[in-house]
Amino acid sequence: MPETQSDLSLPYNGKLFIDGEFIESEGGNRFDVEDPASRDVIGSVADGTAEDIDIAVDAARDAYETCWRQLSARDRGEYLFAVADAIEDEFEEFVELETLENGKPLEQSRSDVREAAKTFRYYGGGADKYHGDTIPEKRDLFDYTVQEPYGVVGSIIPWNWPPMHTADFTAAPIACGNTVVLKPAPEAPLSSLKMAEIWQRVLPDGVVNVVTGSTEPGVRLSRHDGVNKIGFTGHTETGTKIMESAAQTITSVMLELGGKNPNIVLPDAPLDDAVAGTVAGLLTNTGQACAGCERLLLHEDIADEFLDAFIDHISALTIGPGIDSETDIGPLANAKQYEKVTDYISLGKSEGATVLYEGEVPEELGDGFYVPPVVFGDVDGEMRIVNEEVFGPVIVVRKYSSVRDAIEIANDTEYGLTGAVWTRDARVGNRLARRIDAGIVYINNYDNGTFLGAPFGGFGRSGMGKKLAFEETMQEFTRTKTVRTRVASEDLDELDDYY
Ligand code: NAD
Repeated sequence: MPETQSDLSLPYNGKLFIDGEFIESEGGNRFDVEDPASRDVIGSVADGTAEDIDIAVDAARDAYETCWRQLSARDRGEYLFAVADAIEDEFEEFVELETLENGKPLEQSRSDVREAAKTFRYYGGGADKYHGDTIPEKRDLFDYTVQEPYGVVGSIIPWNWPPMHTADFTAAPIACGNTVVLKPAPEAPLSSLKMAEIWQRVLPDGVVNVVTGSTEPGVRLSRHDGVNKIGFTGHTETGTKIMESAAQTITSVMLELGGKNPNIVLPDAPLDDAVAGTVAGLLTNTGQACAGCERLLLHEDIADEFLDAFIDHISALTIGPGIDSETDIGPLANAKQYEKVTDYISLGKSEGATVLYEGEVPEELGDGFYVPPVVFGDVDGEMRIVNEEVFGPVIVVRKYSSVRDAIEIANDTEYGLTGAVWTRDARVGNRLARRIDAGIVYINNYDNGTFLGAPFGGFGRSGMGKKLAFEETMQEFTRTKTVRTRVASEDLDELDDYY
């Protein structure tokens, strides 16, 4: 298994992927990518510039006009199936690379890569099944609609599930007939570049292009007047900037943003399930999951019993490198996130929250970006630790005395991505699901993994638009055109006069 840069054979080291070729950045600069478990350098990546984006957008436009838009939807679907097959052929290589660049335990990387392949297959199958409408005639006029691609899609993605985000923001757009310029996060660009090796073999040149780098290429992409649609996943603050940029060119945006998700445990909840689900909701990907639960709302009658079991469960988990199959909790994915999460833990303490539990990082783990789980109690609705997304293994606990209180606390947030309810009463669970102001609600589970076909996207400042769905996602990456055509009118007896 590769562990250092010298062991990794990365033909795309230091290169961008534009028009079917791996090429140097115009600026000639690079930056290193670290293994978060050891801080060893595992790759050197091109620090793309605004000029690189211009070149990539031109290549994407050319591929759109001369090739991709002219194919039948069924032929495009076949290309996507070939991408899915190729990902599956290199499955374990993708898994190891993701764990190396991102730190997550191998089993979680497996699920991520599996989803990435499925996403290409799903939208490959969907390419020829998304149709327009026919609209009833009005005298001698008849309308029908066609779903047309936008043209060039700019996709800007984060670092927490690199293969899946890469697939989410390329598969559906190209299935719909668009071409793509993809800007991966600087903290985890290698999975996208590995995917580019497959696109180089399987897709026509220029259909997907990859420009790595930090903020500059992202800013250029979101302002580019050759880009017709922006798909973005990341922080709410960045989403706001992207929307402002896109407003200059009236470009449509799809935004998948942050969350501060409530997890409500009712007094009649199946407690063992609720504890296990909450642990998974908090610690999957070491808490770096937009849909993860950072707010735990416990009914006062069961709060102590729940917390004892919850803390017992967390303290039995193993912290370690993702590459080790015994590991339950890997390191945080990068230095930036390590600083951010440790700052929030200090902030929670200085704001006066009580530390109900703080795990320990085994000394032998050395310099990796390890942060143990932290459970805060005695918090109030004014604290930043209660209101701001930490994106790490940190949870705040609030007690409530009535369902009405629970709903009020749950909805007291600017976000609206996910929420969860635990109860034995299905009627109450479903009623609460309707009252929680969020795009996705889990009842008696915290399965925050993705499920293709089930729309995924937030309310409020958690974003706009849905990924992973069929209808809504295909709609997102197409424009509806109405064609009004004249037909012979029965009123005018035209048919009788014909021939
Ligand atoms: P981020 O916003 O810092 O960066 C995301 C991407 O945007 C990166 O590629 C980055 O280089 C680029 N970028 C940064 N500034 C930009 C600008 N001004 N213009 C254009 N592009 C710019 O987010 P992150 O730290 O990579 O990811 C963590 C965030 O992503 C969390 O808030 C998390 O909740 C969110 N997220 C949301 C979902 C979802 O589906 N809702 C999924 C995963 C992550």
